[in-house]
Amino acid sequence: MANREMSRAYDPSSTEQRLYQWWEESGYFIPEIDPDKAPFVISMPPPNVTGVLHLGHAITASLQDLMIRYHRMKGEPTLWLPGEDHASIAAQYVVEKEIAKEGLTREGLGREAFLERLWDWMHRYRHVIATQHRRLGTSCDWTRERFTMDEGLARAVREAFVRLFNHGLVYRGSYLINWCPRCSTALSDLEVDHEEEESKLYYVRYPLQDANDAYITVATTRPETILGDTAVAVHPEDRRYKDLVGRMAILPALQRPIPIIADETVDPEFGTGAVKVTPGHDPTDYDIGQRHSLPTINIMEDDASLNHEAGPYAGQDRYEARRNLVADLDRDGLLVKVEPYQHALGHCQRCHSVVEPRVSTQWFVKIQPLADPAMAAARDGRIRFVPERFTKVYFNWMENIRDWCISRQLWWGHRIPVWHCDDCGQMTASVEVALAACAKCGSNSIRQDPDVLDTWFSSGLWPFSTLGWPNETEDLDYFYPTDVMETAYDILFFWVARMIMLGTRMTGEVPFRTVYLHGLIRDEHGQKMSKSKGNVVDPLEVIEEYGADALRFALLTGSTPGNDMKLSMQKVEAARNFGNKLWNAARFVLGNLGERYSVEDTAQEVNHWEEDASSLSLADRWILSRHNQVIAAVTHLIEQFQFGEAGRQLYEFLWGEFCDWYIEMSKVPLYEGERVAAHRTQAMLMYILERSLRLLHPFMPFVTEETWQHLPHDGEALILAPWPEPGLIDEVAEEEMEPLRDMVRAIRNARAEYEVEPSRPIAATIVAGQKRDLVASQADILIRLARIDPGQLRIEEVLEEMPAKALTLVVGGYEVYLPLAGLVDVDRERARLKRDLAELHREVVRSEELLAKQGFVAKAPAEVVARERARLVGYREREATLRERLKSLE
Ligand SMILES: [Zn+2]
Ligand SMILES: [Zn+2]
Repeated sequence: MANREMSRAYDPSSTEQRLYQWWEESGYFIPEIDPDKAPFVISMPPPNVTGVLHLGHAITASLQDLMIRYHRMKGEPTLWLPGEDHASIAAQYVVEKEIAKEGLTREGLGREAFLERLWDWMHRYRHVIATQHRRLGTSCDWTRERFTMDEGLARAVREAFVRLFNHGLVYRGSYLINWCPRCSTALSDLEVDHEEEESKLYYVRYPLQDANDAYITVATTRPETILGDTAVAVHPEDRRYKDLVGRMAILPALQRPIPIIADETVDPEFGTGAVKVTPGHDPTDYDIGQRHSLPTINIMEDDASLNHEAGPYAGQDRYEARRNLVADLDRDGLLVKVEPYQHALGHCQRCHSVVEPRVSTQWFVKIQPLADPAMAAARDGRIRFVPERFTKVYFNWMENIRDWCISRQLWWGHRIPVWHCDDCGQMTASVEVALAACAKCGSNSIRQDPDVLDTWFSSGLWPFSTLGWPNETEDLDYFYPTDVMETAYDILFFWVARMIMLGTRMTGEVPFRTVYLHGLIRDEHGQKMSKSKGNVVDPLEVIEEYGADALRFALLTGSTPGNDMKLSMQKVEAARNFGNKLWNAARFVLGNLGERYSVEDTAQEVNHWEEDASSLSLADRWILSRHNQVIAAVTHLIEQFQFGEAGRQLYEFLWGEFCDWYIEMSKVPLYEGERVAAHRTQAMLMYILERSLRLLHPFMPFVTEETWQHLPHDGEALILAPWPEPGLIDEVAEEEMEPLRDMVRAIRNARAEYEVEPSRPIAATIVAGQKRDLVASQADILIRLARIDPGQLRIEEVLEEMPAKALTLVVGGYEVYLPLAGLVDVDRERARLKRDLAELHREVVRSEELLAKQGFVAKAPAEVVARERARLVGYREREATLRERLKSLE
């Protein structure tokens, strides 16, 4: 028998961690493999080991834990596999900044010592992150926790790479890529953030060869790249330049002759219509260069200083070279003009440096053969997106996808599993950690490629590498494909698309069936949270103050699929109050339970009554029906991924209907009724409460479990309790009850309006027509809830004559007359009304006079006049109301 003694107030801080530890130690998070049952599986998006959890992680964890707990209660073997991501570029950046505080650099430390620092960092933060996830209540299977650089996952990365390599889907070549000079690495297109910025457009004259004083003028935002130009291009239809195509221009500063060519992609509207072509430093120019077989010149070092190709500017930083070159052009009379210009500039996603497009030798994934099956999976419904509109976003990106640059010039990450032979030049890809000899000539003089893989390459394998792939493990066999991939919409391309491509390629199956995308969390004013704005909310601080349940419930009920959401502390506070309300409701139920009941007994009784409701009161039938409606609705909404709406309906039911109405109504049979009625009510209270705790458990796991543990039952833990099935709906009971609730509300409003003291009973006459008997049968409830004097309650079919001096309420098909003498002291009220009317009259006169003044209407601002007119209308309406009320008192 559980401990029925509940403390006066629910205290999350002494409860949550204790319950979590008990759940975890009891093994409740670990699924049992049962071949007769279909499992439910989510791979948790692994947070980066770069730091601590933020609100984005909190919403991710809340949504996934909700689904996991729901499916576990449905009796499905439920796996939620947690882990962390090594986050190559981000983690390396953070640790580089960290060691810089000690005056150290990555180069100074050397590869081995630097990586040691990163492993230390990883062990520290991995633990922090896992602890924080526990604080949120995430019921994931920690025995299966993975890290993207675990031995098994590293092996999966090598296997995937080698398979792609052997099928010609990974290649190495010199192409134009995005280069971050600060991080000193290549980036994929996705890792570059484009931002509109104020810049300058420089117009520069290129002298024509074999001509005196003849020029072709080009416009550029990056004048230093002139040093890498290998052509000038114009549109073939552009009449201005028709005669120049085929001739040569002389490159300023370097005096190199370059051809003037015609290419369809040149926009005649941009600048002068003639553009410089720098295949080594611009993606469009790179393509033009390919089409016209132009040479490609790389003028930059890794740190964006200029190399020997830059002639007199060699050794200068890119911006220094820009200043010097522009000054030289100006001196030589070749700078025509400089205009302000706004354009999008690429920045490194991690360190925010301006990215330099640059030709470089890198590893690429040939993406089309992976993208085609990944698109087919979405087209034929094997994968569906929630919300559906992201299907189109997915297709748009996949249809225009470019080969994926996967090599990074970093140290932290999965080393590319390729060895270069010094003797024969052969490249050998191998799943071995250390290759002994060249596969072609057998030479031992081989070097492993120094680069590491893009982090998203290993996270792209996450749903199956974590289950043991490429080995044929029991986990992989049973839990793969997974069910739902739930993540933020801003990593749809980075991650979701790559998991689908690599998953279908490597396993022949889609990695998950549903992609649920949630939005970003903004502050209460809809602003993005950022450190510089100082509006960042730390989930751990919120948990300390309000408890994890409150944070989770606020996040969940604020969410709709795919949309950004606002979070305010008022919402969190309201969620905490909801938890407290539930706690107090449970205290009431237990405090009035008597000694006889267990959850199991009451369930049996109520199930019997559901078949034959004749012994139930209207209130019982109503709450039972509403409860069943809510079970059906919440279940349906969760299945439809409408978690926010599910939470809101539960809240409305539990607070608005169960606590505020049924519990209040239950006091009649409990305190004033016969034994059998009290007994029946006790059973109903227990039944509805217990099943509601189950419904709410996936949203607020801690307060529901703690409350449930106080109920007398044979069960072990709420987390394992079965999800409730909806019973019968009693439409008649709902139709009869709703007008009665409306009536009580209307009487309460009238009492409030007339400022009747809460404890003072009033008189009431109800005209109910054919429903007279129904209302009479509920008289006790009306008396209690609307505070009506039992001796002064009349319930009639019809009234011969309307009562005088009474307030009339028409509500829900009933007429209610409240004698004013019962509501107010008539003499005093009359005096008060007269005073108010006199006051109002003065205001009306003042306003009328003001509006009659010619000067006012003509000279005052229009909105001031409008406001005054609206004020006058208000005064007159109020005057009419007060006169009416006064008349009723005469
Ligand atoms: Zn960078
Ligand atoms: Zn060799």
